Amino acid sequence: MNGFGQPLRLVDLPVPQPGPGEILIKLLASGVCHSDVHVWMGESVANPPPDPFILGHEGVGVVVALGDGVTDWKIGDRAGAAWLHDTCGVCDLCRSGNESFCANQRAHGYHVPGTFAEYVVAKAAFAARLPAGDAADLAPLMCAGLTAFGAVERAAVRHGETCAIFGCGGLGLYAVQMAARRGARVVAVDSDPEKLKIAARMGAAVTLHSSSDLADSWPASEQAHATINFAPTTRTWDAMRSATRPLGRIVAAAMVSEPVPLVQEWLTWTGVTITGTSVGTRVQMDELMKMQADTPFQGEIERITLEDVSGALQALHDGKAKGRYCVIYA
Ligand SMILES: [Zn+2]
Ligand SMILES: [Zn+2]
Repeated sequence: MNGFGQPLRLVDLPVPQPGPGEILIKLLASGVCHSDVHVWMGESVANPPPDPFILGHEGVGVVVALGDGVTDWKIGDRAGAAWLHDTCGVCDLCRSGNESFCANQRAHGYHVPGTFAEYVVAKAAFAARLPAGDAADLAPLMCAGLTAFGAVERAAVRHGETCAIFGCGGLGLYAVQMAARRGARVVAVDSDPEKLKIAARMGAAVTLHSSSDLADSWPASEQAHATINFAPTTRTWDAMRSATRPLGRIVAAAMVSEPVPLVQEWLTWTGVTITGTSVGTRVQMDELMKMQADTPFQGEIERITLEDVSGALQALHDGKAKGRYCVIYA
């Protein structure tokens, strides 16, 4: 980091050394996530920030050094560094398998140095075990894929249900595939016709253009049991409510910081559950990697170099990213 909103600075630093319980990963690829943009712009910054202040939390690579006491990783294993660097491990949320809600979690690129670097130190207990495959296909799964997976799980999407997915960027397109694989009829919503075409290719049964009258024109035949929002805007809210059946579930996955209107009487009449989701757990990551090994997810991946990261952050900030940017390390 070279100042909020400023181009990132490319510098030479000593290769970090893994401490007890840690592994050193030489990275092959790192995705660029919208959360990186929030940190880059200074909208969401840990106190203290990472030292050195390196962004990135979708890293995949190869283990090149083991800290003291690490017995379950070998040099040469493929490993992923995702959002969660570690969590406290002792709070009731950690102990009940809900570690992604731990208030004392530490994240790569947020609390500790991230993956826009050739090397990253990860906790042996938190690094992801990776299946075979191209690093560029795996990297975006570390956060985008896992967050989509966590959202579909939180929405408890079941076979035969209708699942409305708002926002068909990287996360939304993963969620389209995941909900379709669970046997749901997927209704994909986006303002970009190109993204809707991709969503249809990836398993959406119905695509709807996100117009201002969508709340009034939502087809009665497509009322959703589960409605998941990946669009980082309040503009989808009215249509999300119209899309959702009585007793349906609404899941907030996108980070939307502005308030949206909600009349409690609507909840009384409909019994709709409104909830949210934050990345995913290690158990969910293992499941996601098994699914990836079985049938790889399709992604729209744009390969870049480390020198291009600032431009990628700017494009994400401006809503101009076509696919998921992925830094490839030589
Ligand atoms: Zn992320
Ligand atoms: Zn905890």
